[in-house]
Amino acid sequence: MRECGLFINGEWRASSSKDTFETTNPATGEVLAKCASGNEADVAMAVDAAATSFADWKRFPAPKRGEILLRAASILRQRKKSLGEMVTKEMGKVLAEGEGDVQEAIDFLEYIAGEGRRMLGETTTSELPGKRCMTVRQPAGIVGCITPWNFPFAVPSWKLGAALIAGNTVVFKPSSLTPLCAAALVEIFQEAGIPPGVLNMVTGAAQTVGQAIVEEERIRVLSFTGGVAAGRDVYSRAAKKLKRVALELGSKNPLIVMDDADIDLALEGILFGAFGTAGQRCTATSRVLVHEKVYKEVMERLVRRTTSLKVGDPLDRGVDMGPVCGREQELRILNYIDLGVQEGARLVCGGKKLKEGDYGKGFFIEPTLFEANHGLRITKEEIFGPVLSVIKIGSYEEAIHVANDVDYGLSSSIYTRDINKAYRAIDDLDAGITYVNAPTIGAEVHLPFVGVKNTGNGAREAGSAAIEEFTEIKTVFIDYSGRLQKAQIDR
Ligand code: NAD
Repeated sequence: MRECGLFINGEWRASSSKDTFETTNPATGEVLAKCASGNEADVAMAVDAAATSFADWKRFPAPKRGEILLRAASILRQRKKSLGEMVTKEMGKVLAEGEGDVQEAIDFLEYIAGEGRRMLGETTTSELPGKRCMTVRQPAGIVGCITPWNFPFAVPSWKLGAALIAGNTVVFKPSSLTPLCAAALVEIFQEAGIPPGVLNMVTGAAQTVGQAIVEEERIRVLSFTGGVAAGRDVYSRAAKKLKRVALELGSKNPLIVMDDADIDLALEGILFGAFGTAGQRCTATSRVLVHEKVYKEVMERLVRRTTSLKVGDPLDRGVDMGPVCGREQELRILNYIDLGVQEGARLVCGGKKLKEGDYGKGFFIEPTLFEANHGLRITKEEIFGPVLSVIKIGSYEEAIHVANDVDYGLSSSIYTRDINKAYRAIDDLDAGITYVNAPTIGAEVHLPFVGVKNTGNGAREAGSAAIEEFTEIKTVFIDYSGRLQKAQIDR
């Protein structure tokens, strides 16, 4: 069996307590690797290494940092197939999506490597003669990156790539459900030539490793992706230390089908948005708001298509949907399905754990459709599984009201052939991302990724905004007049 250590100061090592935990395949229960379970002492060691290496890394020219990221992207590209399979085995998404996860990491590293040759500041005039004013970007310091399991290559690459290109050193804590993928990514950075101490990884529990990273005084910036409850905890602890925190949290994404929509296209979008990655994407379509004039047709066709989705081993290319990622996820989703029934929503199809034969070894849940009234908990809370609520709406205005009447705001979508309605929806939907005639999933890395309301705190990942969280802007005044000049006083 494979063993994964902690990566501290350029070396793989056991945790100081020697404790380990196992990572397993959610489709089969097979144990994939034994991983080091770090603790507070390991985090302190990782921060020591990050602090020591910071001065040199900060001075290392940013375009050369970019070359390391490009080499990492190139290794990822060479291994895309085997790494995609690793994602599928450890996390449970189907192979095409596992490979897509790796591709997103490649895309982002290639994109952000170019920032090494931009890192733009401003140069401007002065109110005084013989004086020049400008801003320069500097790294923020030691960054703590804490990530979830649902995009085990893409999400860490977004954070590590942006933090490293800006000249920060990093302590990285991945989810305990996907340490194998995290170790493979870190190994690739090591092969690409990242100097010792610049990137450190400590695997282990949220309560020990995660909290130690949040509390550690020398870590000045935290980049966190995960659930809202954990995000709140991280934010409030970090606030006491006056840290900068970037939060990317959960959501409850709506997809609107208007009466003039291309129904064939909308159906494809709903199925991919709701059941891709077994609904375990922060951008997953979890509510479909269908205009009453097309409701019957959409519902009938959606039920037919949903019940014919093939659920099974995600390594099989013919399978549409794999398992959910572990027992805790399974319990949470099944509890929400029970809640929906208790709340009076109509369970239209699915709703059960699959237990027969090989299904019994893993965590498989049927793709599930509810017909629901807006306002039930299943229509307002993030379920993060293959459970979709279909809600009938009578007008565009009602659709916008229902879409916006939740605490989250990451992604949103509208299917319509009316260009005016499409543009109005871009203005009216209260979300960080709006798609027109496409599902709520499908972000591209050269554009910012951000949610509003409880989905985060306004920090942006990806796109040109990605380095904002990881840089300090220093303001510089250069006086070449050769005499003392007093701003605001000499006029
Ligand atoms: P989670 O919040 O349970 O854990 C995320 C990470 O934080 C893990 O590494 C975990 O160990 C750590 N952690 C948890 N509690 C912590 C604490 N109190 N202090 C420090 N660290 C802590 O989330 P998850 O189950 O791994 O991921 C699913 C969630 O992530 C969903 O809510 C999903 O919507 C969200 N997500 C959001 C985005 C986005 O960009 N908005 C992307 C992917 C996933």
